[in-house]
Amino acid sequence: MLRSVLCRLSRIPRVRRYSAPAAIPAPSTQPDIYFNKIFINNEWHDADSKKTFPTINPSTGEIICQVAEGDKADVDKAVKAAKDAFKFGSPWRLMDASERGFLLNRLADLLERDRAYLASLETLDNGKPYHIAYMVDLDLVIKCIRYYAGWADKYHGKTIPIDGNYFCYTRHEPVGVCGQIIPWNFPLALQAWKLGPALATGNVVVMKVAEQTPLTALYTANLIKEAGFPPGVVNILPGFGPTAGAAIASHMDVDKVAFTGSTEVGHLIQQAAGKSNLKKVTLELGGKSPNIILSDADVNYAVEESHSGLFFNQGQCCCAASRTYVQESVYNEFVEKSVERAKRRTVGNPFDSKNEQGPQVDEEQFNKILGYISSGKKEGAKLLCGGGVAADRGYFIQPTVFGDVKDDMIIAREEIFGPVMQILKFKTMEEVIERANDTQYGLAAAIFTNDLNKAHYISHGLRAGTVWVNCYNAIQAQAPFGGYKASGIGRELGEEGLEAYTEVKTVTTKVFQKNS
Ligand code: NAD
Ligand code: MG
Repeated sequence: MLRSVLCRLSRIPRVRRYSAPAAIPAPSTQPDIYFNKIFINNEWHDADSKKTFPTINPSTGEIICQVAEGDKADVDKAVKAAKDAFKFGSPWRLMDASERGFLLNRLADLLERDRAYLASLETLDNGKPYHIAYMVDLDLVIKCIRYYAGWADKYHGKTIPIDGNYFCYTRHEPVGVCGQIIPWNFPLALQAWKLGPALATGNVVVMKVAEQTPLTALYTANLIKEAGFPPGVVNILPGFGPTAGAAIASHMDVDKVAFTGSTEVGHLIQQAAGKSNLKKVTLELGGKSPNIILSDADVNYAVEESHSGLFFNQGQCCCAASRTYVQESVYNEFVEKSVERAKRRTVGNPFDSKNEQGPQVDEEQFNKILGYISSGKKEGAKLLCGGGVAADRGYFIQPTVFGDVKDDMIIAREEIFGPVMQILKFKTMEEVIERANDTQYGLAAAIFTNDLNKAHYISHGLRAGTVWVNCYNAIQAQAPFGGYKASGIGRELGEEGLEAYTEVKTVTTKVFQKNS
């Protein structure tokens, strides 16, 4: 029995997401831009201030188009529209739960219909390779929306046998106006993670999309209208964090805020909720996730998975495998093969399917990552490959590997959010568990081993919301995702993802004796 489990563990199939299947349709490298305004009440509006801001193509640094700059006045309008749509007796409140599921399924159909266009637009605005946007991001998006469509009429309360002669039951009711603030690393996927559970459970939404990547979320807004969601149920604003984002976090009529982004801003969101109306807060924040390679692991496999665990999405993942701990007897082999793999990583035009890596999202992130690379060199880590700029325009960075990294170096402690791998050496399991946990973060972790007992022992010791064994980035809509410690509050995805979007109401009715 054990043998067969161990055997299966060692033969986990290669994940399809890193190669480009032939079936992907050709991208449109200059997709038309249809929507660049603010979406309120199923209509498009200029910003109240009439201000706009540019969104940039990170492959070239050139402006794609101007986008309406939402601010407090626009947030107020959006919240009012959402509140009206949520009024007791409104079409949305009266809609059958199964009908909400039907609308979500229709939205998924429309996303599927426009998948190649959306993937092209995501590549243009964000820089991620088109074949990955098409295969991975859109796959996550469509499946997430369908998954929560299924939940719409299934997330129900209980009847509870309380003492005495009562009929007691619970209802799972929507929280109300949900503010949702999302980042730029997975613009479409994180939009879906937030909309799916909110709409399945009957909430209304005011979403602020990231200033770096507003375009695909705005296109999706129009699909929401086309799918038939009533006006005001979903409102989407492009705009900046300290203005539009902060207005949502501190709004007195927003009942809940869901935020994904930096831990620094996560603190601000929590404070704003505390200072305003104690709105419910869920946070999905940064990480510095340990990836532990034991000496009995299949080294070639662990090298490939660790490579994609860190470099996937240009290294711009909250759960990136950014501290790779390798047991000493396989350290040299692992380092050598990881460097060789990083050197083979193809970087360039994200519309060209031969490229695994595109540009970083913007100049700010690009400079920040180059700053971390200098800091690694200064602190004495061994730069084994990369370390520089990968093209003469745009924000491309060479795949970079540091060896001999020590736990107290800045590159081992702070989130780099770029294509920079840190490899550290360890001796024993006890030691690596302690070192892996010695961080303010606790988002994800991974273990590579062919010993099932070691896999479980270490995974029980790690303080992280997700532990992958012999795989990395195996994130799907059905399983919860979120952080321990400063990596967040609450969980998204899975059944747990519904909790944050529901209030539980207890209804207790006295049942009188027949003759009283
Ligand atoms: P950020 O946290 O500033 O931005 C994320 C979202 O929050 C954006 O929509 C932004 O406009 C908004 N925001 C910013 N300030 C706000 C405020 N005061 N109130 C309300 N909303 C606000 O992240 P960033 O500046 O784009 O990136 C900085 C770092 O954050 C990255 O280098 C990376 O380390 C981390 N990050 C993490 C994730 C993640 O998935 N956990 C995503 C993006 C960035
Ligand atoms: Mg952009």
